[in-house]
Amino acid sequence: MKVFKFGGASVNTVERIQHVKNILSLYKDEKLVVIISAMGKTTNALEKVAEAFYAGNKEEALQLFGVIKNQHLTTAKYLLVTHYNACFEQLNNFFTEAEWLLHDKPVREYDYYYDQIVCVGELLSTCIVSYYLNEEGIRNKWIDVRDIIRTDDNFRDANIDWDYTGKKVEELSTVNGQQTTGNILLTQGFIGSTDENESTTLGREGSDYTAAVFANLLNAESQTIWKDVEGVMSADPKQFPDAQLMPELSFDEVIEMAYYGAQVIHPKTIKPLQNKGIPLHVKCFLDPSLPGTIISKKQIKHLPPVVIIKEKQALIHLHSQDFSFVGEKPMSELYKMLGELNIKPNLIQTGAISLQLCLDDRAEKIEQLAAAASKIFDVQVEKDLSLLTIRHFNNELLTKITYDKQVILEQKTTETVQVLYR
Ligand code: ASP
Ligand code: MG
Repeated sequence: MKVFKFGGASVNTVERIQHVKNILSLYKDEKLVVIISAMGKTTNALEKVAEAFYAGNKEEALQLFGVIKNQHLTTAKYLLVTHYNACFEQLNNFFTEAEWLLHDKPVREYDYYYDQIVCVGELLSTCIVSYYLNEEGIRNKWIDVRDIIRTDDNFRDANIDWDYTGKKVEELSTVNGQQTTGNILLTQGFIGSTDENESTTLGREGSDYTAAVFANLLNAESQTIWKDVEGVMSADPKQFPDAQLMPELSFDEVIEMAYYGAQVIHPKTIKPLQNKGIPLHVKCFLDPSLPGTIISKKQIKHLPPVVIIKEKQALIHLHSQDFSFVGEKPMSELYKMLGELNIKPNLIQTGAISLQLCLDDRAEKIEQLAAAASKIFDVQVEKDLSLLTIRHFNNELLTKITYDKQVILEQKTTETVQVLYR
């Protein structure tokens, strides 16, 4: 059993969906679980629907949803002939369910509605792709992943109930085992459901993680993430034209990269794979003959410098109010505040009577933290900063990237350097 995940970019046009079919036809004899994201920027568009709905702009929400509806219907019309009607019926069920909700008035918290609305993106895309593949002779069984992936009700960042989900996956694999081999189970990433049948989401870009959950529970031989890039690169090629493809990486290295903000793979993805030693392939769906990147437990030496830049950073300067040393007590209080506000600083620098925290600039979080911290510290906030991280750095490269920048903070270990700049 192999697990494949196709991201939104691999299904954002009719041609690309046809391409997914070509890739899957290369794996005819394999048992596959195929996870597919919402098409292109559908999730962003659905977020706008949720915002309009929650702001009480029902008409706007319905109108925005209408655009999404039409896009999917157009795609389905292009792709399908014999299976169009059946597909249309199923799409319509999803539309009706969402529109029904949009006609209501919001009475619960935003995150709940967000999940009920945003989950539709993956249901629509997988429905179309499933019918299309079946019409083209690539037999597959569509599954509503909300019947499998059970989560808690921490909407927008739901946590998986591994026991329940594990049992469901087991049932699924025995059912599939009775069918002819070569069948594909086709389902959604990113979404799940609570024990009260409310839809949940696992955090943006969470489909990689869903694929890893399946891979773990099915003891898959591998997981492949099909992307629109050659594999995992040492830097963003748009910013650094001499970025290199890294053919092999260790799980640990990828966890480090994700931690520092590399947008390669959803950070939660690695653990379920690492726990079972399941290799992760990152491959280019535009050219499946390219080798891509293999991520496994094998430790890889001599990696090139890996460059990660996080934009939109804020720096919070905290100054001890009574000029006393920043000791254990204020530090532990500060960590408590960070925990309560669910804030993960990207960098912390402590001094004798002051402390600096670099965080993603999310206005409401910064305000909350500044307000809470002002009880024990003088607080100053600086915005519009960028955080550069280089793993396996050399000083030459560091100078090359930062020579024209105004550096505010720098932290170095033997492996990693981080520089915050204006
Ligand atoms: N469609 C979701 C998103 O765009 C999940 C995913 O693609 O992984 O965040
Ligand atoms: Mg995606």
